[in-house]
Amino acid sequence: MKIQQLITHAFRMPPSVPWEDATNKVDGLEFIVVEIHTNTGLVGTGLSYTVDIGGTVIKTLIDDYLQNLVIGMEALNYEEIWNKLQRQSRRLGLGVNSMAIAAIDIAIWDLMGKYYKQPLYKLLGGARNQIPAYISEINLSTSDTLEKLLDRVDSYIGQGYSTVKIKIGKDDIDEDIERITKVQERLGKSGKVLVDLNQKWSAAEALYKGSKLDGLQLGWIEEPILYSDIQGHANLKKAIRTPIALGESMYSRHQFLEYLKADAVDIVQADVAFVAGITEWHKIAHLANAFGKPVAPHYMMELSLQLLCGVQNSFMLENVVGGSFTELGLLEVPIVVKNGIGIPSDLPGHGIVFNKEKLASYELDSASVQKTFVGGSK
Ligand SMILES: [Mg+2]
Repeated sequence: MKIQQLITHAFRMPPSVPWEDATNKVDGLEFIVVEIHTNTGLVGTGLSYTVDIGGTVIKTLIDDYLQNLVIGMEALNYEEIWNKLQRQSRRLGLGVNSMAIAAIDIAIWDLMGKYYKQPLYKLLGGARNQIPAYISEINLSTSDTLEKLLDRVDSYIGQGYSTVKIKIGKDDIDEDIERITKVQERLGKSGKVLVDLNQKWSAAEALYKGSKLDGLQLGWIEEPILYSDIQGHANLKKAIRTPIALGESMYSRHQFLEYLKADAVDIVQADVAFVAGITEWHKIAHLANAFGKPVAPHYMMELSLQLLCGVQNSFMLENVVGGSFTELGLLEVPIVVKNGIGIPSDLPGHGIVFNKEKLASYELDSASVQKTFVGGSK
């Protein structure tokens, strides 16, 4: 099965509900979708994304450079393809090129599923056929009240969720504690609360504030401090009993290995789009397994569902409020979490079938982004 052509588009759209955390306010989600056409007639769909910035750069990297490298290659040789792309782009560092490689790599795995007539999770190991999911809140805006938060939590309970992640990182830790404990009361004894700092705390602040949260029986504290501070995370992990989750700001198995060797992480949250696709994500999941750590990938619900069902050490599926392709209205066939459980599509490949007409209405327009982009970092 030879690769004949790549067709790449980039799209930009607002999240379907307001998104704001302790360090960032999100105006636009940017998706990059690659179709890989082959001489068999099979077409694989790959995807990648960025939060607010860089979608046009990723598309240009694929169009101007990467696609020429893979045209003519055997589509089933995913290692050969991935390594060629990585070696050729390595001087760009890690980041934009990882996201571009991801879009191609995910299309290759979709093609493999279609060629072998198997859903992705079975190609990856078929460790299970369902996975528990948690609902992931992104609303730390000053206009959001505790009452509004609790109303939303009630609706999540009504949808069958018992685990809820909320953003924290208010200046006053007691305000965070109040929000956490009220949500816990709503969820009851069988519920679990996870919290996400988005790297808000300094290392010293994390030791102090983390210890104040330590008696609350939280499921995890996510990205408490700057992603690159491995020693800071190791110190915090030694000081508290609450598990530490992180990984959405890392781009390669080598970065995860450093965290694992330093015993600085409990739950590995590699994002398939940021770590250059399924080929690398699968290795990270196995690496985590070797250190006895579970994986709970960041975002990309419909694809993460397939990944989690492929590997033995899977933990939970993240369903970000308003952020799944299904909730954004982009899919021909919705993929939904029912009663807090994700069940992967059994279609060959990853099973993500975009509604092309709907996607086209969000085509990323460089000229208008240049005029309007302001960014939401705090
Ligand atoms: Mg996070």
